[in-house]
Amino acid sequence: MQTIVVATKNSGKAQEYQKMFAPLGFKVKTLQDFPPITINENGNSFEENATIKATTVMKVLKLPVLADDSGLVVDALNGEPGIHSARYAGDHDDAANRQKLINAMREVPDDQRTAHFHTTIVAIKPNGKKLVANGNVSGHILHKEQGTNGFGYDPLFYVDSLICSMADLTPEQKNKISHRGNALRVLMKNFNDWWNKQ
Ligand code: IMP
Repeated sequence: MQTIVVATKNSGKAQEYQKMFAPLGFKVKTLQDFPPITINENGNSFEENATIKATTVMKVLKLPVLADDSGLVVDALNGEPGIHSARYAGDHDDAANRQKLINAMREVPDDQRTAHFHTTIVAIKPNGKKLVANGNVSGHILHKEQGTNGFGYDPLFYVDSLICSMADLTPEQKNKISHRGNALRVLMKNFNDWWNKQ
């Protein structure tokens, strides 16, 4: 069985990848399966950060690696929090991050509250061949939280196409329209070509 490593410690993410790759006959491993690897995530874009993560892990383990980087891009904030989404207010403190966003958007009128979630997935093989897949979902930023599902900025993100917040959706509903789901579907469309390319 062929092994592919997902450069994450997040078990939810790992399961998503597992679901896509198990039917193709891959064993999916994560960073939890190996001794710690130091990753210096200092890129200036989602793709740079995903590439840094994937390349660092691939060089240590000498295995094919997938890494992703995601965030919330708010037009009225010139794209912030963007690549800084996880640490916008505090390190992975979702509640503090949401409160900072509410404050930053307080004076922004309704027609200027557009935003999107973005994910870039990078796959890299030991021979250096790289595959990049992007996914987005559009919406706008609410004035206050709505819904109890999801994580991160979900309760503040209104999905215009579904007339509800991201946190109103079940995981299955979210996966059908989400930035991560969309990027994963693009990845899978191009995966066999990339895998078989020397
Ligand atoms: P990551 O690169 O997937 O770890 O995402 C970085 C940060 O972006 C997370 O810590 C969240 O703050 C935010 N984020 C990414 N995806 C989502 C999502 O699906 N819902 C809400 N927030 C998200």
